Amino acid sequence: MADVTFNILRTDPDSGRKPCFQKFTVPDDGTGLTVLDGLNYILENLDGSLAFRSSCRSAVCGSCAMHINGRHRLACNTQVALFKTPEVTIRPLAHVEVEKDLCVNMDKFWEKYEHVTPYLIPGSPPPEKERIQSQEDREELDVVIDCIQCASCYSACPVTLSSNEYLGPAALLKIDRFVRDIRDAAHNQRLDKADGPYGAWRCHSVFACQCCPKELDPPRSIAYVKRRLMRRRLLGGE
Ligand code: SF4
Repeated sequence: MADVTFNILRTDPDSGRKPCFQKFTVPDDGTGLTVLDGLNYILENLDGSLAFRSSCRSAVCGSCAMHINGRHRLACNTQVALFKTPEVTIRPLAHVEVEKDLCVNMDKFWEKYEHVTPYLIPGSPPPEKERIQSQEDREELDVVIDCIQCASCYSACPVTLSSNEYLGPAALLKIDRFVRDIRDAAHNQRLDKADGPYGAWRCHSVFACQCCPKELDPPRSIAYVKRRLMRRRLLGGE
Protein backbone atom coordinates (compact mmCIF):
# COMPACT_ATOMS: atom_id res chain seq x y z
CA MET A 1 0.00 0.00 0.00
CA ALA A 2 1.38 3.41 -1.00
CA ASP A 3 0.45 6.86 0.21
CA VAL A 4 -0.82 9.68 -1.95
CA THR A 5 -0.60 13.31 -0.87
CA PHE A 6 -3.72 15.33 -1.53
CA ASN A 7 -2.82 19.02 -1.66
CA ILE A 8 -6.11 20.88 -1.51
CA LEU A 9 -6.80 24.60 -1.79
CA ARG A 10 -8.93 25.36 1.27
CA THR A 11 -11.18 28.42 1.31
CA ASP A 12 -13.58 29.54 4.00
CA PRO A 13 -14.90 33.06 3.31
CA ASP A 14 -16.76 33.09 6.65
CA SER A 15 -13.54 32.63 8.63
CA GLY A 16 -11.82 35.69 7.15
CA ARG A 17 -8.67 33.61 6.56
CA LYS A 18 -6.90 33.74 3.22
CA PRO A 19 -7.20 30.65 0.99
CA CYS A 20 -4.26 28.29 1.47
CA PHE A 21 -3.21 24.76 0.52
CA GLN A 22 -3.49 21.94 3.03
CA LYS A 23 -1.90 18.51 2.63
CA PHE A 24 -3.50 15.20 3.56
CA THR A 25 -2.08 11.70 3.30
CA VAL A 26 -4.39 9.15 1.74
CA PRO A 27 -3.58 5.42 1.56
CA ASP A 28 -3.75 3.85 -1.91
CA ASP A 29 -4.15 0.06 -1.99
CA GLY A 30 -3.58 -0.01 -5.76
CA THR A 31 -7.13 -1.02 -6.67
CA GLY A 32 -8.01 2.11 -8.63
CA LEU A 33 -8.24 4.91 -6.05
CA THR A 34 -10.03 7.87 -7.60
CA VAL A 35 -9.68 11.48 -6.54
CA LEU A 36 -13.24 11.30 -5.24
CA ASP A 37 -12.35 8.21 -3.16
CA GLY A 38 -9.48 10.21 -1.69
CA LEU A 39 -11.69 13.19 -0.88
CA ASN A 40 -14.22 10.92 0.80
CA TYR A 41 -11.42 9.30 2.80
CA ILE A 42 -10.27 12.71 4.01
CA LEU A 43 -13.82 13.74 4.88
CA GLU A 44 -14.54 10.55 6.82
CA ASN A 45 -11.16 10.05 8.51
CA LEU A 46 -9.08 13.21 8.58
CA ASP A 47 -11.11 16.40 8.34
CA GLY A 48 -14.91 16.44 8.42
CA SER A 49 -14.96 20.12 7.50
CA LEU A 50 -13.70 19.58 3.95
CA ALA A 51 -16.37 20.77 1.50
CA PHE A 52 -16.88 19.34 -1.98
CA ARG A 53 -19.76 18.17 -4.14
CA SER A 54 -20.38 14.74 -5.61
CA SER A 55 -23.37 12.59 -6.35
CA CYS A 56 -23.45 9.84 -8.97
CA ARG A 57 -19.82 8.59 -8.80
CA SER A 58 -20.28 7.56 -12.46
CA ALA A 59 -19.38 10.64 -14.53
CA VAL A 60 -23.03 11.35 -15.19
CA CYS A 61 -24.09 14.14 -12.83
CA GLY A 62 -21.14 16.50 -13.39
CA SER A 63 -21.16 17.74 -9.79
CA CYS A 64 -17.59 16.71 -8.85
CA ALA A 65 -15.78 18.75 -11.54
CA MET A 66 -12.70 20.47 -10.13
CA HIS A 67 -9.18 21.50 -11.14
CA ILE A 68 -6.94 18.44 -10.61
CA ASN A 69 -3.22 18.45 -11.37
CA GLY A 70 -3.37 21.23 -13.91
CA ARG A 71 -6.62 20.44 -15.67
CA HIS A 72 -10.35 20.53 -15.05
CA ARG A 73 -11.58 16.96 -14.54
CA LEU A 74 -14.24 14.93 -12.76
CA ALA A 75 -12.99 13.65 -9.41
CA CYS A 76 -15.08 10.48 -9.71
CA ASN A 77 -13.48 9.15 -12.89
CA THR A 78 -9.94 10.39 -12.35
CA GLN A 79 -7.72 7.69 -10.88
CA VAL A 80 -4.64 8.89 -9.02
CA ALA A 81 -2.61 6.25 -10.91
CA LEU A 82 -3.04 8.49 -13.95
CA PHE A 83 -0.42 10.83 -12.53
CA LYS A 84 3.31 10.24 -12.53
CA THR A 85 3.69 11.74 -9.05
CA PRO A 86 2.19 10.57 -5.74
CA GLU A 87 0.78 14.06 -5.18
CA VAL A 88 -2.59 15.37 -6.34
CA THR A 89 -3.14 19.12 -6.28
CA ILE A 90 -6.78 20.14 -6.26
CA ARG A 91 -8.39 23.53 -6.69
CA PRO A 92 -12.06 24.44 -7.14
CA LEU A 93 -13.43 25.22 -10.60
CA ALA A 94 -11.99 28.51 -11.85
CA HIS A 95 -13.81 31.73 -12.80
CA VAL A 96 -16.70 31.10 -10.43
CA GLU A 97 -17.18 32.25 -6.85
CA VAL A 98 -15.90 29.79 -4.24
CA GLU A 99 -18.38 29.11 -1.47
CA LYS A 100 -16.13 26.84 0.57
CA ASP A 101 -13.10 24.71 -0.35
CA LEU A 102 -14.10 22.88 -3.56
CA CYS A 103 -17.74 24.02 -3.60
CA VAL A 104 -18.49 26.85 -6.01
CA ASN A 105 -21.45 29.02 -6.81
CA MET A 106 -22.74 27.91 -10.23
CA ASP A 107 -25.52 30.52 -10.50
CA LYS A 108 -23.91 32.43 -13.39
CA PHE A 109 -23.23 29.23 -15.30
CA TRP A 110 -26.86 28.10 -14.90
CA GLU A 111 -28.17 31.56 -15.79
CA LYS A 112 -26.36 31.39 -19.15
CA TYR A 113 -27.43 27.80 -19.67
CA GLU A 114 -31.05 28.73 -19.05
CA HIS A 115 -30.71 31.73 -21.40
CA VAL A 116 -30.13 29.41 -24.38
CA THR A 117 -33.38 27.47 -23.69
CA PRO A 118 -31.71 24.06 -23.31
CA TYR A 119 -34.72 22.01 -24.36
CA LEU A 120 -36.52 21.08 -27.55
CA ILE A 121 -38.91 23.73 -28.91
CA PRO A 122 -41.03 21.85 -31.46
CA GLY A 123 -43.10 23.70 -34.03
CA SER A 124 -46.16 21.47 -33.84
CA PRO A 125 -48.47 19.97 -31.19
CA PRO A 126 -47.28 16.76 -29.54
CA PRO A 127 -47.81 13.67 -31.70
CA GLU A 128 -49.60 10.63 -30.35
CA LYS A 129 -46.38 8.72 -29.67
CA GLU A 130 -43.07 10.43 -30.38
CA ARG A 131 -41.27 12.87 -32.65
CA ILE A 132 -39.52 10.61 -35.13
CA GLN A 133 -35.88 11.10 -36.15
CA SER A 134 -34.11 9.16 -38.85
CA GLN A 135 -31.04 7.18 -37.84
CA GLU A 136 -28.84 9.70 -39.68
CA ASP A 137 -30.50 12.69 -38.01
CA ARG A 138 -29.95 11.13 -34.59
CA GLU A 139 -26.32 10.35 -35.41
CA GLU A 140 -25.82 14.01 -36.28
CA LEU A 141 -26.35 14.73 -32.56
CA ASP A 142 -23.80 12.20 -31.31
CA VAL A 143 -21.04 14.80 -31.13
CA VAL A 144 -23.04 17.16 -28.89
CA ILE A 145 -25.53 15.10 -26.92
CA ASP A 146 -23.51 13.94 -23.91
CA CYS A 147 -22.96 17.20 -22.03
CA ILE A 148 -23.44 16.72 -18.28
CA GLN A 149 -23.13 20.46 -17.44
CA CYS A 150 -20.05 19.95 -15.32
CA ALA A 151 -18.73 23.44 -16.25
CA SER A 152 -15.17 22.23 -16.81
CA CYS A 153 -15.04 23.89 -20.24
CA TYR A 154 -16.61 27.06 -18.83
CA SER A 155 -14.03 27.30 -16.06
CA ALA A 156 -11.10 26.57 -18.37
CA CYS A 157 -12.08 29.37 -20.77
CA PRO A 158 -10.13 32.62 -20.19
CA VAL A 159 -12.87 34.68 -21.87
CA THR A 160 -15.38 33.75 -19.16
CA LEU A 161 -12.96 35.38 -16.73
CA SER A 162 -12.55 38.62 -18.69
CA SER A 163 -16.19 38.88 -19.81
CA ASN A 164 -18.76 38.10 -17.17
CA GLU A 165 -21.55 38.09 -19.75
CA TYR A 166 -19.94 35.76 -22.32
CA LEU A 167 -22.21 32.73 -22.78
CA GLY A 168 -19.26 30.37 -22.62
CA PRO A 169 -18.51 27.02 -24.25
CA ALA A 170 -21.20 24.88 -22.58
CA ALA A 171 -24.10 27.19 -23.49
CA LEU A 172 -22.79 27.57 -27.06
CA LEU A 173 -22.45 23.80 -27.33
CA LYS A 174 -26.08 23.54 -26.26
CA ILE A 175 -27.07 25.94 -29.06
CA ASP A 176 -25.15 23.69 -31.46
CA ARG A 177 -26.98 20.67 -30.06
CA PHE A 178 -30.42 22.14 -30.87
CA VAL A 179 -29.66 23.83 -34.20
CA ARG A 180 -28.57 20.39 -35.43
CA ASP A 181 -31.86 18.85 -34.32
CA ILE A 182 -34.39 18.62 -37.16
CA ARG A 183 -37.26 18.37 -34.64
CA ASP A 184 -36.49 21.79 -33.19
CA ALA A 185 -38.34 24.80 -34.62
CA ALA A 186 -36.42 27.56 -32.86
CA HIS A 187 -33.16 27.52 -34.81
CA ASN A 188 -33.37 31.20 -35.66
CA GLN A 189 -34.01 32.30 -32.07
CA ARG A 190 -31.11 30.16 -30.93
CA LEU A 191 -28.80 31.57 -33.59
CA ASP A 192 -29.91 35.11 -32.61
CA LYS A 193 -28.62 34.41 -29.10
CA ALA A 194 -25.33 33.07 -30.45
CA ASP A 195 -25.01 36.14 -32.70
CA GLY A 196 -25.29 38.61 -29.80
CA PRO A 197 -22.36 40.60 -28.36
CA TYR A 198 -21.68 37.90 -25.77
CA GLY A 199 -22.21 34.93 -28.05
CA ALA A 200 -20.02 32.92 -30.40
CA TRP A 201 -18.09 35.90 -31.78
CA ARG A 202 -16.73 36.64 -28.30
CA CYS A 203 -14.80 33.33 -28.42
CA HIS A 204 -11.10 33.99 -29.03
CA SER A 205 -10.37 30.42 -30.16
CA VAL A 206 -8.01 29.75 -27.26
CA PHE A 207 -9.08 26.08 -27.23
CA ALA A 208 -8.69 25.87 -23.44
CA CYS A 209 -12.24 24.47 -23.30
CA GLN A 210 -11.00 21.34 -25.03
CA CYS A 211 -10.91 19.55 -21.68
CA CYS A 212 -14.33 17.93 -21.65
CA PRO A 213 -14.51 14.80 -19.45
CA LYS A 214 -17.22 13.44 -21.76
CA GLU A 215 -14.94 13.91 -24.77
CA LEU A 216 -17.13 16.53 -26.40
CA ASP A 217 -15.46 19.25 -28.40
CA PRO A 218 -16.75 22.73 -27.48
CA PRO A 219 -14.36 24.55 -29.88
CA ARG A 220 -15.79 22.53 -32.77
CA SER A 221 -19.31 23.41 -31.61
CA ILE A 222 -18.48 27.11 -31.46
CA ALA A 223 -16.93 26.94 -34.95
CA TYR A 224 -20.05 25.14 -36.20
CA VAL A 225 -22.32 27.82 -34.73
CA LYS A 226 -20.18 30.55 -36.33
CA ARG A 227 -20.50 28.79 -39.70
CA ARG A 228 -24.28 28.62 -39.30
CA LEU A 229 -24.33 32.33 -38.46
CA MET A 230 -22.23 33.21 -41.51
CA ARG A 231 -24.42 31.08 -43.75
CA ARG A 232 -27.50 32.81 -42.40
CA ARG A 233 -25.99 36.23 -43.07
CA LEU A 234 -24.81 35.40 -46.56
CA LEU A 235 -27.63 33.23 -47.80
CA GLY A 236 -30.55 34.23 -45.56
CA GLY A 237 -32.82 31.71 -43.88
CA GLU A 238 -31.50 29.96 -40.81
FE1 SF4 B 1 -18.71 19.64 -19.02
FE2 SF4 B 1 -18.10 18.85 -21.52
FE3 SF4 B 1 -20.54 19.82 -21.01
FE4 SF4 B 1 -18.43 21.45 -21.00
S1 SF4 B 1 -19.23 20.34 -22.77
S2 SF4 B 1 -20.08 21.42 -19.45
S3 SF4 B 1 -16.82 20.14 -20.16
S4 SF4 B 1 -19.64 17.94 -20.16
